[in-house]
Amino acid sequence: MKEDIDQDVSISWSKITSELKKSLDKDTFQNWIKPINFETQLDTSLTLSVPTRFLRDWIIKNYASVIKRVYQDQGITVEKLSIIVKENNNRIIPGTEVVYQDIDNDEDTYYDDISAPLDPQFTFDNFIVGKPNELAYAAAQRVAQSEVVSFNPLFLYGGVGLGKTHLMHAVAWNIKKRNPKKNVVYLTAEKFMYQFIKALRFKNIMSFKEQFRSVDVLMIDDVQFIIGKDNTQEEFFHTFNTLVDKKRQIIISADKSPADLEGLEDRLKSRLGWGLVADIHPLTYELRLGILQAKAEQKSMKLTSEVLEFLADKITNNVREMEGALNRLAVHASLQDSEVSVDLVKDVLKDLLRTNSRKITIDEIQKKVVEHYNIKLSDMHSPRRSRSVARPRQVAMYLAKSITTRSLPEIGRKFGGRDHTTVIHAIKTIEEIMVNDPSLAEDIELLTRILQTS
Ligand code: ADP
Ligand code: MG
Repeated sequence: MKEDIDQDVSISWSKITSELKKSLDKDTFQNWIKPINFETQLDTSLTLSVPTRFLRDWIIKNYASVIKRVYQDQGITVEKLSIIVKENNNRIIPGTEVVYQDIDNDEDTYYDDISAPLDPQFTFDNFIVGKPNELAYAAAQRVAQSEVVSFNPLFLYGGVGLGKTHLMHAVAWNIKKRNPKKNVVYLTAEKFMYQFIKALRFKNIMSFKEQFRSVDVLMIDDVQFIIGKDNTQEEFFHTFNTLVDKKRQIIISADKSPADLEGLEDRLKSRLGWGLVADIHPLTYELRLGILQAKAEQKSMKLTSEVLEFLADKITNNVREMEGALNRLAVHASLQDSEVSVDLVKDVLKDLLRTNSRKITIDEIQKKVVEHYNIKLSDMHSPRRSRSVARPRQVAMYLAKSITTRSLPEIGRKFGGRDHTTVIHAIKTIEEIMVNDPSLAEDIELLTRILQTS
């Protein structure tokens, strides 16, 4: 009998999670809801379990109310929601039960943890090191491991998706693991501002200051966000100085170096550059390949080195896109139940490969066309109308339209300031000739290929 009841309820837990999936963003769901296991439900008491204390606390703090609400939406009232910690081998760790308390009062909610959730995947172990990020990595390790503050702040900067947030979380995990009592606070500059404004609104500014000034390690991600937000900058500056004076470690990330953060107050700019400034460079082919290998392995995907090399060659912007590509391939491979070939990759990732493909310029097109027809570059711009130069010029215009995103007037300008109607005429002419003249069609195809692969 009991078996049956449990069965029923656990079906409804999967129902609950599928509801949660709809209302939370993908990462949140993956990181914080997915690890939850259903334990029991007796009357209005619900017990869930998770593998770590940290997860337990985060879920209680941030998602317990959501879980209760989703139950309510399904017509099930949960009065008591508790979460226990279970080890991997499924043993309940005694004394780890925490019961969620409803907090309705805004002011109390304000006392929520000021830190944002840490991604369990963002650890040092999962970070692949190569030339472009070795300095940032070493600095992050140093901060995570040393007992004394040797440089303050650590300032990490680099383009989108190159691992800044990953490294900050890794430092936080590492310090928490070694020293659970340490008050490590990680948040985005945006959330910092939000907290600050909220404190102002609720006249809580003193406790806001206290909260931030009592942290042991403060990490503020994407600090460029507070550019132009004068009051927030001011408050941040004071928080920063107080913590530095108290010899507390600060880690900052941004998309640019302190000096290049235009619009940031000068005194803040210079203060941010006082410690160690470490940049993450765009990824090299070797590092891209290394990351792809590691991620494919994590996902238990068996990809041939040909496919991995193809991806490392083509997807160059950032790691997030590489992960996106692998996820898409994983789905297709499992659907097709076959080995992933380069052709499948090309097909599945068409759009991604296109945005990553090198931008071809009209200048390059003109250069190649000129070489191909053995004429002079100036013929591309000259008013000469003799067939021997007019036809190649039309070919170049045709290619400019078909393989760049330039507009007709822009193309016209690049060809000696011609009118856009001339460009239209050129394109039409080439299209017509191609129908009856396979050699021109071949020329076009060849030139297109040369341009796209050079
Ligand atoms: P940023 O904060 O610089 O925009 P993130 O830290 O959010 O970038 O990284 C984007 C994604 O790429 C994350 O999933 C992260 O785990 C992954 N990533 C970035 N760099 C690396 C690396 N060197 N090794 C493994 N994963 C990485
Ligand atoms: Mg980031």
